[in-house]
Amino acid sequence: MTAYDPNNIFAKILRGEFPCYKVYEDDHALAFLDIMPRTPGHTLVIPKAPARNILDIEPEDFAHVARASRTVARAALQAFKADGITLQQFSEPAGGQVVFHLHMHVMPRHDGIALLPPASRKEDAKVLEDNATRLIAALKGA
Ligand code: AMP
Repeated sequence: MTAYDPNNIFAKILRGEFPCYKVYEDDHALAFLDIMPRTPGHTLVIPKAPARNILDIEPEDFAHVARASRTVARAALQAFKADGITLQQFSEPAGGQVVFHLHMHVMPRHDGIALLPPASRKEDAKVLEDNATRLIAALKGA
């Protein structure tokens, strides 16, 4: 498998070299909004440890991502008055992966509303700011 590339965009976000709409952080994981959301509140949860995807991540690091994803999912359900949550994780191009630092997609879902196709459009900054504020508030109460 291809080696981890420390210059991928999420590694730059982790190092503070590129901005993001951060909603959650702990010692092992970071969560921020997807800028091309497939549903309002679409969030990405990433490990702080370098890992390309499910095929090379250490089990403990993946457990940290799972724990943070659960926290974000529960808050997102409340923040976006959602009816459910979809989690997705893509590994390698054949698996649909585009950015090669492991990430879990956390997508709030509403009954009868389909996901937008991946990377359909870049969301307005104001909408992303508002959604981050809502999710952060819900996470504080979690
Ligand atoms: P994938 O690798 O297929 O699981 O998808 C990568 C995801 O990252 C897509 O949903 C993109 O919209 C998202 N994405 C790409 N660049 C950024 C960025 N700078 N900030 C937030 N999300 C991003």
